[in-house]
Amino acid sequence: MPRLFVPVIRNFAQVPIQENTLYILDIDNTVLYFPQMMHTHTFEEWRAHILDAVAHPTDPVHFLNFLEDIQSRNSSVQFLTARDEDLNEVTVRHLHDIGIHDPVVHYKGNMTKGEYISSHFIGFDSIVFIDDLDKNIDSVHPSISCFKFVN
Ligand SMILES: [Mg+2]
Repeated sequence: MPRLFVPVIRNFAQVPIQENTLYILDIDNTVLYFPQMMHTHTFEEWRAHILDAVAHPTDPVHFLNFLEDIQSRNSSVQFLTARDEDLNEVTVRHLHDIGIHDPVVHYKGNMTKGEYISSHFIGFDSIVFIDDLDKNIDSVHPSISCFKFVN
């Protein structure tokens, strides 16, 4: 049965914090963005830009509190991105730019994000997935709670 309703959030204070839950977050345009990026760009332009750009948090007011609240509830955060895995060093730096140290980052490769989650996050009682793109949310099994980040 398809997902009937996806709650939209505009900041991270709107995400309920649960116990013993894995929060899987998209990176680009969900937790960080690049203010100088052109609105329309090719993939090559995007890649060239982010290599030496400083990332900005999408929600500087609430994001770090959100991470602290998750940890205080015995829950955790990991990241799942469509970026190429060879961008790992750059990606870790971007997450550092917004205040995240020692992140766990997953690269979905050729899978959809839903396929990646279903095959790599087995045994978690509770998963919450947050992304800015409908196509990623639509790929996730309807039993997993999703939030669409809009900023
Ligand atoms: Mg995104």
